[in-house]
Amino acid sequence: MFSASSDSQDSPIDGKDGPFGVPAPMGESSPGSWSYTISVRSLCEFTTKRGDLDRRFTPSATALEGLKGQVAIAARRGPDYESEIALETTCGNLRVRGRADGYDARRRCLEEVKTIRGHPDDIPENRRHLHWAQVQTYGALFCRQRGVSEVALAVVYFDVDSQAELELFQVCSATELEDAFAQRCGLFLKWAQQEAAHRSARDAGLRTLAFPEGAFRAGQRALAEAVYRAAINGRCLLAQAPTGIGKTLGTLFPMLRAVPEQGIDKIFYLTCKGTGRITALDALEGLRGGTTGKSLRVQAVVAKDQACEHPDKACHGDSCPLARGFYDRLPAAREQAVTEGWLDAQSQRRIALRHGVCPYYLGQELVRWADVLVGDVHHAFDPNGQLWGLMQALDWKVGVLVDEAHNLVERARQMYSAELRLSEMRQARHIAPAAIRAALDALLRASEKLVEAQPDPYSVLEDVPDDLSRALQVAAASMGEHFQRHPLEVGPLLGFNFVLQRFVKLVESLADHSLFDVQITAGETTIDDASATPDLLSDEASAHMDSVDATLCIRNVVPARFLRPRFQAMHTITLFSATLGPPDYPISLLGLPEQTAWIDVPPAFPPENLTVRIARRVSTRYAHRSRSLGALVDVIVCQFDECPGNYLAFFSSFEYLEQAADLLAQRRPDIMQWRQDRRMGAEARRKFLGQFAPAGRGLGFAVLGGVFAEGVDLPGSRLVGAFIATLGLPPVSPMQGEIKVRLDNLFGADHGYADLVPAMQKVIQAAGRVLRTPEDRGWLWLLDDRYGRENVLRLLPPCWGLPEVA
Ligand code: SF4
Repeated sequence: MFSASSDSQDSPIDGKDGPFGVPAPMGESSPGSWSYTISVRSLCEFTTKRGDLDRRFTPSATALEGLKGQVAIAARRGPDYESEIALETTCGNLRVRGRADGYDARRRCLEEVKTIRGHPDDIPENRRHLHWAQVQTYGALFCRQRGVSEVALAVVYFDVDSQAELELFQVCSATELEDAFAQRCGLFLKWAQQEAAHRSARDAGLRTLAFPEGAFRAGQRALAEAVYRAAINGRCLLAQAPTGIGKTLGTLFPMLRAVPEQGIDKIFYLTCKGTGRITALDALEGLRGGTTGKSLRVQAVVAKDQACEHPDKACHGDSCPLARGFYDRLPAAREQAVTEGWLDAQSQRRIALRHGVCPYYLGQELVRWADVLVGDVHHAFDPNGQLWGLMQALDWKVGVLVDEAHNLVERARQMYSAELRLSEMRQARHIAPAAIRAALDALLRASEKLVEAQPDPYSVLEDVPDDLSRALQVAAASMGEHFQRHPLEVGPLLGFNFVLQRFVKLVESLADHSLFDVQITAGETTIDDASATPDLLSDEASAHMDSVDATLCIRNVVPARFLRPRFQAMHTITLFSATLGPPDYPISLLGLPEQTAWIDVPPAFPPENLTVRIARRVSTRYAHRSRSLGALVDVIVCQFDECPGNYLAFFSSFEYLEQAADLLAQRRPDIMQWRQDRRMGAEARRKFLGQFAPAGRGLGFAVLGGVFAEGVDLPGSRLVGAFIATLGLPPVSPMQGEIKVRLDNLFGADHGYADLVPAMQKVIQAAGRVLRTPEDRGWLWLLDDRYGRENVLRLLPPCWGLPEVA
């Protein structure tokens, strides 16, 4: 790992020009002449797709299966078979390139292999048409490159389950392929010219983009320079920067400036929470206004459930009116969207409805043509993330910014975890048609057998037993086949199928980065009480298995193995947050490269503005809570009386929060208080925060790690201090113990990755609510004697200094 300040690249963020001369790989152009590079796949998709949108569920092969399919076909063809033939040519100003899957010299046949599940007849007509257009285009490029006058073409559909292949075959002359190719390029040429002009204008605008607020805030310049250097050097950066310095602008601006220098195709601005996306879009609106002709295209990536106009319908022309004729109306909608350039959720919806197309799928298309994409982290890091898929398929060079990146470890763990419940299997078996019931029966039996064999309510197993593994495979294949035959079927069985397919995929990749665990529950109650075990799983228990529920879980602990290739494929990525450190934690758990740069931007506020105190007479350990509650409330009361104002007090649980709040209410009914509760909607949250009036006096009780511990902005006298009545450690449980053991095995002991490091990140986040502007002054009380320990103190921000112990 390197310090970000060790790079020596000149910075253009003062408005000076940075290094020039890196040609843009896509859409390169210069005044008077232009050229545009496009893949065969994109060219065909753009010019061929017509008719209805059809997203009925069709079980598809994974990327890995696709690769294996190609290898299987190559092995069948013999030693003369050429695989992965790189082809490239020009047509006027267009440069077209791609890789044909294979050439069988014996048959003089160029092949495009499509690995599928099921029969090719089930593939929608317009998609098969697209496959044929692709092989035709490869054929034209092949004839040119090899100087041959004719070639046989084949689209080979390879069924991954039966290993059968079905071939669409035709011999074509070079002349007819050339004609079709020229016609296809002709259809794309106008759009290409427009895109090349856009790229040129965009890059020119970004080269002279000035910082919108005139001067950088303290700390913001250091952050911006580090992001720029990372982008110019194609590196990953971890940027820990305090709240209030303007991180959104401080990262977006330098990344935009690096775009023309590095020929970056797109910027992804990704967040773990929706509020961050609103802030980013606000900042981008201002930055875009500063580019000549507002040439930057900005798009919000909207989730399907938010964009869908007909949630009661299915995504195909027979069901949804916005899917009918989608591809016929798409060109006009796309044209309007790129002309407007500002594509937040409302704009996408307005344009889509004007042209009678689905807003969600219009958005999916526009992702290809936008310059900055603002969305959730799952778009780039989830196994099925759309941006990751397109980035790979279309070979984009991307610059990525991840806001509130301290959440990424937990979010990524969820993306690579999956659960299967016995009760779900039973329900699926109950509603399943006869053809798949046997497979689901076998799956249920194997799962129940495993559950019965567990001596404890929570167990971690070394591996998935063979019989369960087989049952999972068979059930997944049967379900896949069923939905292949019944593509119109929707409902709970389809939902279970998705859960099952996801689980099976994660079983295949199970290794030391994940736990395979079994958690037994009875009815709706989790059995986390050891006393419940013996009766529950006694000899008679098998007779009552129907009343026992259990969850089989692939629980990811270290997502590094899944994310590492993604970081490698991104040209540059900056992960930023107020609480990222220590840097080895995200590097180890997320799989960032060893050379990842690190910058810790000091706060904009003088350290003396925040007084940090440790209450050494308070212990918030579970066993000590009732005894220490009086002392804890005493600290709160003394601080309040010494400096009346608005405070937030954070606790480890709602129960603890209630106990403290009740005692305070008894002792000091004159102190106003507001309590967070478990089910607070947006309005209730707004009301809670509304109580923090300027120059007000009162206490807000909240839970650490909850909605009021992050992203809450109460500047000035709206908040003068915070009490943190917990160390933030995760509750002790068998599962937490297993996670710790696994992390200890992987990274050695005493790293704190399982508990202390994420706990301190939560504490520092919550503490960040106190000082919001350079003028703010405030108090932070750490209510637990353990805050005085050396291993805890070294994880606290240096700007807090050595806290006073009281
Ligand atoms: S409007 Fe909804 S149902 Fe219709 S195509 Fe779009 S996402 Fe599917």
